[in-house]
Amino acid sequence: AAKHLAGKTVIITGASSGIGRSTAFEFARTAPSNGLKLVLTARRIDVLQQISAEIAKETDNGVKVFPAKLDVGESSAVAKFVSSLPEEFRDIHVLVNNAGLVKGVAKAPDIAEEDINTMFQTNVMGLINMTQAILPIFKSRGVDGGAGDIINVGSIAGREPYVGGSIYCATKAAVRSFTDSLRKELIATRIRVIELDPGQVETEFSLVRFNGDKSKADAVYAGCEPLTPDDIAEVVVFTASRRQNVVVADTLIFPNHQA
Ligand code: NDP
Repeated sequence: AAKHLAGKTVIITGASSGIGRSTAFEFARTAPSNGLKLVLTARRIDVLQQISAEIAKETDNGVKVFPAKLDVGESSAVAKFVSSLPEEFRDIHVLVNNAGLVKGVAKAPDIAEEDINTMFQTNVMGLINMTQAILPIFKSRGVDGGAGDIINVGSIAGREPYVGGSIYCATKAAVRSFTDSLRKELIATRIRVIELDPGQVETEFSLVRFNGDKSKADAVYAGCEPLTPDDIAEVVVFTASRRQNVVVADTLIFPNHQA
């Protein structure tokens, strides 16, 4: 099915680590010989440049990579970024809204306002900003031109709220509602609106959750085997590489031990 990716341009947010980074590699590996372009975005541009160099070294199929610094939470910066992409990378076909984070584990009354704002700004507003900036490209391509894909990375937490995660869970429930509404709004436009909800995945995510405290982060996975970022990346690429009439609309992916 890699043929369905031929000539496409994919933009990934949060491509500097974890699921986003793996997704960049997986697209690059799966790319057909007649080309795929990748726009990799995150705040850590140095890391993105390193990843782009690694992709170039690992793959030999003409994949072109454009690494770019972008904070998805800044709506005017997002709009400006999309409208000023280099000509070669402007014709986006697939948007992977992956950037996201969790700040701390605390009961609702104890969560700092700053952490609440950061989570909503990144997980919800970031995804909305990117979607609003890129939808006009898909719409102008139109039904006959194959429109485009929006792939939103939600979380099992958006379906199964947990104690100490009220805000993070609420952000991911918001992603789910937004995605479902958008899919209905765009039905029959050939724009596929897709949600992928991972369970536990071993990434920098838990390190961010505990503000860099590795022992606390490691404790999250004690006694269980999380998924790897590659497990999710494979599903993202599988979803994007179906023929245009097939919408893998809503997927929950969790490790076998996770109830
Ligand atoms: P990581 O912490 O490894 O990666 C998060 C990515 O998001 C980084 O590349 C980071 O890049 C980027 N990011 C964070 N804030 C911003 C911002 N304001 N603007 C742009 N990029 C940003 O975590 P994961 O790979 O695990 O997380 C990816 C997605 O998967 C998230 O949406 C997360 O909620 C979701 N998820 C993760 C699960 C897990 O167990 N790991 C489970 C379920 C869902 P940089 O710091 O360079 O900006």
